[in-house]
Amino acid sequence: MLVVMEAGARPEQIEAVVRHIERMGFRAHPIPGAFRTAIGVTGHSGKADPSVLENFPGVKEIIPVSHAYKLVSREAKPDDTIVTVGGVDVGGNGIVVIGGPCAVESLDQTRTVAERIKEAGGQLMRGGAYKPRTSPYSFQGLGEEALEILARVREEFDLPVVTEAIDHDTLQLVEQYADCIQIGARNMQNFALLKSAGRARKPVLLKRGMAATLEELLLSAEYIMAEGNYAVMLCERGVRTFADHTRNTLDLSVVPAVKRISHLPILVDPSHGTGKRNKVLPMSRAAIAAGADGLIIEVHHKPEEALSDGPQALLPEAFAQLIREVDAIAQVVGRSLQPALAAR
Ligand code: PEP
Ligand code: MN
Repeated sequence: MLVVMEAGARPEQIEAVVRHIERMGFRAHPIPGAFRTAIGVTGHSGKADPSVLENFPGVKEIIPVSHAYKLVSREAKPDDTIVTVGGVDVGGNGIVVIGGPCAVESLDQTRTVAERIKEAGGQLMRGGAYKPRTSPYSFQGLGEEALEILARVREEFDLPVVTEAIDHDTLQLVEQYADCIQIGARNMQNFALLKSAGRARKPVLLKRGMAATLEELLLSAEYIMAEGNYAVMLCERGVRTFADHTRNTLDLSVVPAVKRISHLPILVDPSHGTGKRNKVLPMSRAAIAAGADGLIIEVHHKPEEALSDGPQALLPEAFAQLIREVDAIAQVVGRSLQPALAAR
């Protein structure tokens, strides 16, 4: 259910509605918008009847929400959400490009790539510290050492950092060191982890599971928001189909589908989406043309020596070319590349 306040509702009227919702045993989620505030009501409460709120001063209307997702929907918030990651805005008119290696392998490797990401105009840095690998014998990531490297590189290059948490304990560490917590495809429906991310104070990049429907993706985002963390970005990274010319099938039609029903930003990952270096640039162009708010791209200066996902990593010069093309396409669709943080 949504309680929509009048455009001119006063803060104390909003506060009175929130208090009453909580007194009835529900959870209240005030969602300020460009024109009005809506208050999402979630949770269960015996026999309490929230329709009494209709008569509260400042309340315009009560909207029952029939679908399972509520806080993620445009009904709750008609205008686009902008999520700020370490000072860089994601969503709205600007396009962001996150670049970096699949995995942090050493300080030297991470610095080398970060320098090139920054030079090219990338606004955010990626790099896995905890790698969810198919085989237990594959490189699992450097763990906390990698988080320390990422934090150091962030300071040196003014590149806020996005990195994956794979369980409750690693989430606490990622929250401490990084600017954004990534929840990977394999954990999209790890509901305990989603709840932990919902209690974290850093933004979350939620990747679509490899066999997840749009509704399932939105409900996973809802898990995070229902716990009080509203800074959620979605990410399409390819789904599994019968096609075998690529690692996954990048489902770009999900971008306009998300835009229609949700206010959350959506990024596209053409690296995992295709698994092949030569397909990353064409699918990046297409993603921006389709309305994505940004891209997450794997970059390595020596892909043949990479400890994971070398075949899909772009060389730094190809990443720079990608940024130039994405910028040009962004202009065509009335958008532009978000400026990177100024180096100190
Ligand atoms: C990643 O981005 O490092 C990753 C493992 O991606 P995904 O969860 O989409 O497979
Ligand atoms: Mn990878």
